[in-house]
Amino acid sequence: MFSRVFSGGISGIDAHMVCVEADISGGLPQFHMVGLPSSEVKEARERVFRALSNTGIDIPPRKITVNLSPAGIRKQGSGFDMPIAVAILSALGIIRADSLENKVFAGELSLDGHINKVNGILPIALAARQEGFRTLVVPRENVFEGAVIEDLRISGVSDLKELIRALNEDTLSASEYISLEQELKKAYEQEKMDYRDIKGQESAKRATQVAVAGFHNLLYIGPPGSGKSMLARCIPTILSRMDREECLEISKIYSVMGLLENQSLMLRRPFRSPHHSITASALIGGMGNPRPGEITLAHKGVLFLDEAAEFKKDVIEMLRQPMEEKQAVISRLSGNIVFPADFMLVMAMNPCRCGFYPDRQMCRCTQSEVDRYFGKIRGPVLDRIDICTATFRLDTSDFSGEGTDSAQMREQVRKAQKVQYERFRGTDIRFNSQMRQREIEQYCVLGDRDKELLDKAYRRYHLTARGYYKVLKVARTIADLEGCDSISKKHLTEAISYRNTYE
Ligand SMILES: [Zn+2]
Repeated sequence: MFSRVFSGGISGIDAHMVCVEADISGGLPQFHMVGLPSSEVKEARERVFRALSNTGIDIPPRKITVNLSPAGIRKQGSGFDMPIAVAILSALGIIRADSLENKVFAGELSLDGHINKVNGILPIALAARQEGFRTLVVPRENVFEGAVIEDLRISGVSDLKELIRALNEDTLSASEYISLEQELKKAYEQEKMDYRDIKGQESAKRATQVAVAGFHNLLYIGPPGSGKSMLARCIPTILSRMDREECLEISKIYSVMGLLENQSLMLRRPFRSPHHSITASALIGGMGNPRPGEITLAHKGVLFLDEAAEFKKDVIEMLRQPMEEKQAVISRLSGNIVFPADFMLVMAMNPCRCGFYPDRQMCRCTQSEVDRYFGKIRGPVLDRIDICTATFRLDTSDFSGEGTDSAQMREQVRKAQKVQYERFRGTDIRFNSQMRQREIEQYCVLGDRDKELLDKAYRRYHLTARGYYKVLKVARTIADLEGCDSISKKHLTEAISYRNTYE
């Protein structure tokens, strides 16, 4: 007696189809599982047997062999429980074999036969549709992950008894299709934070807007309590809306990690703010059983390092390569796993250890202490900061009046990004911050006077060559925010004011 069903396995943040075969034959009663199962998958044996028994199904004392193929890929997670049970039940003739056609199964079993939710249903749903399957049967709590996918029927089940009956009677439920476009639109309307509520700090808000418009990495420097982290936390309110493809790409990461909340995909760009005690593998991605790190959870959104000087220097330096390649490569014996990591880096720090430099009435740090404080983040990551901006302790006069609100700022960002989209159409560049020297020479042309101004700043502020090009890229973004084709003195002067004096 032989049966075969399909399931999905996860590798990185993508899924591949796995065929689960069950064979029941005479001979000594035993259970074999072959096809490179991990220890979690091997434990399926116990769960499946107890779940079947508690559902009132007695497994005859025969030799049962379960094979997961392709054999070359390691199978991980508890999502194979349900397909293994279904394959055995079908081999025993308890489930009609023809009811399994065109279907994919994934779910974990608890000992009483309940079907529990599992991670990674969204990538499995995408892979199932890609491979032409018609129906995906999943734990009821996971249904929302597949409901946004066209041309795939998602069926949620609660326990084994329900599953057996629905397959035999051909009464599997089908969840309603959810329009992702509408969900994305709604998400913006429910926004609670707003830059309007940050009083004063207009210049830091402006710098933030420029940074977001050109996807430039950003550093806030200011005394404690000057609102650095509030400024950063409001960034999602001015980021451009995601399209369907971006939403699915980001949601796949969160699905694999089991981080999708409130029965919803990721409808907003991520904002990740790891604590400064974070380890290198939690930031970049895990080694043993490869898991995405914070930089991948921040993909297409913001990675915010508050109190940047408190992070371990070697942990911060680990960011260099992923920032260059926009991905994290986790090498393993069985081959590399690549996780996407294209994020905007935002850092915030005090100007010195006590936090009050250059206010000499408050700050008692010596100049060399101040230098040493910056030394902690100086290097390959600080080099990649395009925009530095200062925040100040507020004066009581700042508390009244209306500030610029997020809706206004977002609309200008949207326009500036549209200009960039047209400019770089057909290239691998999406934003001004990604321009290389060739594009800078092509798109950041200065008039003679303005060139002279920049040369003067270069000498006066001891800019590096990299710093010189950063000013040009940022000036390009400022001109785009104003809808200007060419960079003028005003744009250049503002860009010079954001120069990174710490690299
Ligand atoms: Zn100080």
